Amino acid sequence: MKIINPATEDVLADVELADLAETDRVVERARKAFAAWREVSPGDRARLLRRFADLVDRHGDELAGLELANAGHPIGNARWEAGNVRDVLHFYAGAPERNHGKQIPVPGGVDITFAEPLGVVGVIVPWNFPMAIMMWGAAPALAAGNTVIVKPAEWTPMTALRLAELALEAGLPEGVLQVLPGAGEVAGARLVEHPGVNKIVFTGSTEVGKLILARAAEHVKRVTLELGGKSANVVFADADLEQAAATAPSAVFDNSGQDCCARSRVLVERPVYEEFLDRLRTAVGALTVGDPLDPGTDMGPLISAEHRDRVASFVTGTPHYQGTCPSGKGFWFPPTVLTHDSLDDRAFTEEIFGPVVSVVPFDDEAAAIQIANNTKYGLSGSIWTRDVGRALRVARAVEAGNLSVNSHSSVRYWTPFGGFKQSGLGRELGPDALAAFTETKNVFIAH
Ligand code: NAD
Repeated sequence: MKIINPATEDVLADVELADLAETDRVVERARKAFAAWREVSPGDRARLLRRFADLVDRHGDELAGLELANAGHPIGNARWEAGNVRDVLHFYAGAPERNHGKQIPVPGGVDITFAEPLGVVGVIVPWNFPMAIMMWGAAPALAAGNTVIVKPAEWTPMTALRLAELALEAGLPEGVLQVLPGAGEVAGARLVEHPGVNKIVFTGSTEVGKLILARAAEHVKRVTLELGGKSANVVFADADLEQAAATAPSAVFDNSGQDCCARSRVLVERPVYEEFLDRLRTAVGALTVGDPLDPGTDMGPLISAEHRDRVASFVTGTPHYQGTCPSGKGFWFPPTVLTHDSLDDRAFTEEIFGPVVSVVPFDDEAAAIQIANNTKYGLSGSIWTRDVGRALRVARAVEAGNLSVNSHSSVRYWTPFGGFKQSGLGRELGPDALAAFTETKNVFIAH
């Protein structure tokens, strides 16, 4: 597969995609490695993960450069992502030595629980945040004593391949963390069906997630699913409007809108709707779209020509406002603001996964909640208000896994991340992430 730089359309690399036989060999290696890896003492497992984190830190600029070239991420974002990989590894390096069971009072003996590793974990990754999403699955899985096979997205294998080399250099034994570039329908599907793979962590589209859930059911295989979103940014009239409007663009246009948490539906209380739109236009007009290598760039290209065509198909008629972007080579699309006569518009209901935001007015708190929840998705969202009671009421009423008040934070490795409804199943990250990579075993010992 030819790997393309989306900002220049240059060929970066030629990567061989695994066939079924190669996928089976990788699973076999992971199974062999599991027997030894689960026996590595918790302290040694922690030390190896810390060494891996330190190596990622030392190679941060290199990894950021690879992500910039392969996924078109602006340099500032790519550096942050490399730092996030390091931090996630450090965070879960603390986990093996704290992976306690319980001692439960029972009559006639002693009862204890163990958190046993599952075995081989397949982590299937999308192209939007290749190295970060890989590590959100891989780090806690490894910490819990599993071996891991990462299947990167076809378009973006570069950082995953480099991270696998760094893992070996850090001293992780062969077969403990493997990267398997391959087609979703071939290598990905095989991991889901292979009886030697005990769990699948899948991040990607809801459509493919449903397929994986159905196929995993045949083996009662464990799954964590992180899927699509169409999140709401709810702005009440009493909010700090200046701040709400100034931050709304980054909440949806970060990574060119190719973000599952993008707040792509902005709901604004009617009395401040026009003022908000004015301020938003100014903020969007100030965005710099262009060369990812320039530190002043806010937004890079989309991942591919095919994806750009899909994004463009949502913008019919004249948008309310459209920023600028380079012409010529590269898969560019300008930041775009839409308003709607009907909330049934396809652009308002479907995940676009590009730099397109919809802004609509609402009349009261109940209406805001109703519009926010009128979607099959439930991943994230934001609430802007100075009324603490309302902030809490709305946060509790919105059906989404990750909400922020007067900010747009969502994926933080200290806290659990995942979706309600068709945005996913299970949670990643946070203090309890190892629970998704272990089985609870209960042992009773008679007196
Ligand atoms: P995708 O579903 O097309 O692909 C994701 C991964 O699944 C790729 O590695 C692909 O090769 C693989 N795959 C495809 N078909 C498969 C199959 N039949 N069996 C096994 N694996 C298969 O998604 P994408 O286009 O790469 O990513 C965009 C989507 O990901 C968006 O919907 C976005 O919202 C979602 N996403 C969700 C989160 C989250 O945490 N909730 C994070 C990032 C992206």
